[in-house]
Amino acid sequence: MKAAVFREVGHPLSIEEVPFPRRESEREAILKVLATGLCHGDVHLVAGEWEGDIIVETPRILGHEIVGELTHDVGGLRKGQKVLVYSSIGCGQCKYCKAGKYQFCERVRVIGYHYDGGFAEYVKVPDFRYLLPVEGNPIELAPLADAGITAYNATEGIGPSDEVLIIGTGTVALYALQILKRRGAFVSVVGSSVPKLEVASKLGSDEVIQAKRRNYVEKASEKSSRRRFDYVLDFVGADYSLKDALWLLRNEGELRVVGEFGGYVHYPEQLLVLRGLKIRGILYGSFQDLAEVYRVYREGWLKTLPVPFKLEEINDAINESHEGRIIGRPVIVP
Ligand SMILES: [Zn+2]
Ligand SMILES: [Zn+2]
Repeated sequence: MKAAVFREVGHPLSIEEVPFPRRESEREAILKVLATGLCHGDVHLVAGEWEGDIIVETPRILGHEIVGELTHDVGGLRKGQKVLVYSSIGCGQCKYCKAGKYQFCERVRVIGYHYDGGFAEYVKVPDFRYLLPVEGNPIELAPLADAGITAYNATEGIGPSDEVLIIGTGTVALYALQILKRRGAFVSVVGSSVPKLEVASKLGSDEVIQAKRRNYVEKASEKSSRRRFDYVLDFVGADYSLKDALWLLRNEGELRVVGEFGGYVHYPEQLLVLRGLKIRGILYGSFQDLAEVYRVYREGWLKTLPVPFKLEEINDAINESHEGRIIGRPVIVP
């Protein structure tokens, strides 16, 4: 079968013929890949800018935002069923796995990093219980498997009376914006890219704030005439975005850090204590979050803004993504 293989950091993915995945146990599922989203994590990994602590051995087929079709019956699912893949495979025994929060399992293994992923014609999923049966257009569905689930988790518990500042205009930020608007929150978005802010406006942002990266937070407070927010969702996670974000929160406010740009959180403890603030990291989401984000997608809450590429064009998708030229999610179709 054809696949895009990650062989060496700093080099394009290599389009090659590789062996078909083989089913070796009752639990495993082989999917014909219908579409796989290109996550910014993959772009960073290929470029050698990876800040995460996942070690990827090469050669590896990347791609963890997968929609596929079952090639056989398994665990009550029928051959031909379309499924979304939950990519973080846990040990199944620990307290996180028992709560469905496999992403926090200390023995987690991720499809597309530790196992071969979806930038291929077929993919093997180690356990059918990580599959969510779905209907609809695979190109639109694929980004739900990572960007969607993360956005849903990032908006957990935020409702109609809340004022929210979103920092950043990447795919996950634009999904979170749509979910929050459906929930009736007041949402401001701060970013540097004018075309991406225009999309945020079209998607219902109450306020967009254009700023140079180094003064995101300054501009956000200026524009809002010193208004404070109940939540600040940082989809960048760099020093420049984190620097003053906490100052924008009102009493009992919460900073949620989603982006993984590798910045440092550095604040006077008195700010936390006197305002009763919280800081929370958002990593992916639970299996339940995947089911929930699929449900709200079907109810029309969310446009996933896919930009399709053929498997052979994956290096173009990586380059354009790296240069910030794609608005929405590149989706690779084998
Ligand atoms: Zn990802
Ligand atoms: Zn576990």
